[in-house]
Amino acid sequence: MTSVTDNHSESNLMWRRKKGIRKKSKSSSSSSSEEEMSMEEMKASPILIINGGIKKTKKRNMKKNQNNKSYELLAYRDLPDYMKDNEYILDHYRANWPLKPAFYSLFRWHNETLNIWTWSLPMTAPGGNASHNSKDFFSRTTASVDLGQMSPSELQVAQWPFFIFLAGSMFCFLTSSTCHLFCCHSHRLNLLLLRMDYVGIAVMIVTSFFPPMYYIFQCQPQWQWIYLGGITAMGVFTIINLLTPAFSTSKYRVYRALLFFAMGFSGIIPAIHALILNWNEPERVATVTYESIMALSYAVGTLFYVTRIPERWKPGWFDLAGHSHQIFHIFVIMGALSHYYAALVFIDWRRVVGCTTP
Ligand SMILES: [Zn+2]
Repeated sequence: MTSVTDNHSESNLMWRRKKGIRKKSKSSSSSSSEEEMSMEEMKASPILIINGGIKKTKKRNMKKNQNNKSYELLAYRDLPDYMKDNEYILDHYRANWPLKPAFYSLFRWHNETLNIWTWSLPMTAPGGNASHNSKDFFSRTTASVDLGQMSPSELQVAQWPFFIFLAGSMFCFLTSSTCHLFCCHSHRLNLLLLRMDYVGIAVMIVTSFFPPMYYIFQCQPQWQWIYLGGITAMGVFTIINLLTPAFSTSKYRVYRALLFFAMGFSGIIPAIHALILNWNEPERVATVTYESIMALSYAVGTLFYVTRIPERWKPGWFDLAGHSHQIFHIFVIMGALSHYYAALVFIDWRRVVGCTTP
């Protein structure tokens, strides 16, 4: 073993004598680690040196070494400042990763893995109960194209408000997943993706209003306009604020939270109006139940988000699974699903009752 090593050292030294001068003169700015790596790699592959494949192997090995170094998961204390957000999650961070490895980290365990994947859960959720399953819904949607088969009241039940809500929710899930996946790339991209994440939340809140407001007030178009126009205007105002660099700083965190809060809770006014208008409708129980579950889910989720429970109680224990942000995502999904089922009830109800008021 010793003689083999000695032989390698000798051949390396000879090679260094021949190539060392050229290397120094060509790239005087090369780092010492680069020099060390070339020694290492020469020790590892003397045969390639003899065959003259040095340059390619050198580049490949250097890249490999650098990659292995960069893609290690970091502890909280080693993070750049822009990534220090939750001091109770102590380890398993990615930081300053190039886009490609960041993308492939979709299939690696780190503290954002479940934050990325939780948004795929709604795809696996059941489409509804026996009378509200998705197959039923889509067959009805297709049937609505055949206008000749439908009664006059059914003609008035449009499907687009429901799809606006679905599209808004998907947009929110997509911006959030993208943010969790690539926010480790750089400070600049981190800021941009966070802003897009906020915009996704605003879009989801606005589009959530469309199915209930449209179907409940379908026979009073002036209220449709007032409520849907009002929430859309609030959404546009919020998005303009979220995209304004001055309002993206941590100084305005409370202001941003207030904007979301105002948008969400403005729904109480049309909800009370709708209850007064349809107090005697039997579907009221189902829709109020679904919408209450939605409100409760969002409230409990936000509580976890703000308090950072449970990682606050046991820092480091929930780094990979079970921390507050993952719990927050699950409650948001529960809220969105509950709203989805309520929207199906609204559609069916309006289809049956039509417009009884002039
Ligand atoms: Zn998130």
